[in-house]
Amino acid sequence: MPGRNFLFVPGPTNVPERILRAMDRAMEDHRSSAFPELATGLFRDLKKVFKTTTGQAFIFPATGTGGWEAALVNTLSPGDRVIAPRYGQFSHLWIDLAQRHGLRVDIIDVEWGEGAPAERIQEILTGDAQHEIKGVLIVHNETATGVTSDLGAVRRAMDAAEHPALLYVDGVSSIGSIDFRMDEWKVDLAITGSQKGLMLPAGLGIVCASPKALAARERAKCPRVFFDFGDMIKANATGYFPYTPSLPLLYGLRESLAIIAEEGLENIFARHHRLAEGVRAAVRAWGGGLKLCAKAPKWYSDTVSAILVPEGVNGADVIDVAFRRYNLALGAGLARMAGKLFRIGHLGDLNELMLLGAIAGAEMAMRDVGIKIEAGSGVAATAEYYRSTAAPLAARAAAPLSPDAQQPPAAGKTTSPRVAARA
Ligand code: PLP
Repeated sequence: MPGRNFLFVPGPTNVPERILRAMDRAMEDHRSSAFPELATGLFRDLKKVFKTTTGQAFIFPATGTGGWEAALVNTLSPGDRVIAPRYGQFSHLWIDLAQRHGLRVDIIDVEWGEGAPAERIQEILTGDAQHEIKGVLIVHNETATGVTSDLGAVRRAMDAAEHPALLYVDGVSSIGSIDFRMDEWKVDLAITGSQKGLMLPAGLGIVCASPKALAARERAKCPRVFFDFGDMIKANATGYFPYTPSLPLLYGLRESLAIIAEEGLENIFARHHRLAEGVRAAVRAWGGGLKLCAKAPKWYSDTVSAILVPEGVNGADVIDVAFRRYNLALGAGLARMAGKLFRIGHLGDLNELMLLGAIAGAEMAMRDVGIKIEAGSGVAATAEYYRSTAAPLAARAAAPLSPDAQQPPAAGKTTSPRVAARA
């Protein structure tokens, strides 16, 4: 199909040209004397994205799932008790992984469409006078349902119960896109993957561990080899890895962290919020029995919207038509949500007009499968929202162009005066 594919699954996300170029390089010796400069810069700058000064960042050649595993096996022993609310497919899978490692998981089942129940967590922890519970597992942004939990509230609940359990947070679809504060919320293990807010291909599982988590490592008896923090700590201390790292991904990560620093984390969060609000404006305008899976505004996710389709319609048909007819990739309904919804991922390297393309394609596909919505209704609502909330032109002119436009022009190439002035 000519033209580009519109990638609107909630990860992998679009990889900016700058990152693609940074990854496109010859292999080199990962044991050379030059290598530590790359690795130590990554460990330092990753901490800023997690908002931690005291934590330690680990980079595994893995994915978010590997990050889940690394966080648990380095800090717990088989038979340890943890609590975990379950409100979507990813919280479910993490619980499954914990159980397969022999942990005893007290599952708090929550309706899909809601998030972590802070009050219930407080009650359970308060009742655990012997401090048998060793950890609380929270998926910050449940990608399957488009729900973001209030981590500040979870932390307050743990503090109110005066319970010493470690706080484990899956930030796979939040870190780098939605406000996340490792130190302030006293998160002990924070996990992400490379293919979402970091705008890279999949292939890195990144974990940040607090000093308390690193101390728990000394007692933790879960077997571990590939994911052992101890081996990483030893090798990372001199700027190396215990095994062969993926050089393209590390160079890509360096570029990603530079792009994030240029835009600024707070600006990134604000951009994601505004882009998400535009998608939510479309859902409201469509009507036609469509609604967000997230049950209340306090659960709305700024990185992914899961949109329930009306009874009698199969959400998978919308996704299939969008893909085959309009070259638009939407996210599927997972597990018990299969067929009931489709998801629009709105995270990473994207802007208003890109999202309008996704809204237009979703709208066309929905009409194609017989959902009764008015042509153009969602597009108009989103466009008007973006238009009416756009930064004033003066502010825009002062803001940098997209990072790609800031590259100095190649010799002999003409460019716009605006770009030339900055080059
Ligand atoms: N956690 C969340 C919230 C996710 O969205 C995903 C994947 O989409 C995962 C964990 C699993 O990550 P991965 O597929 O990188 O192993």
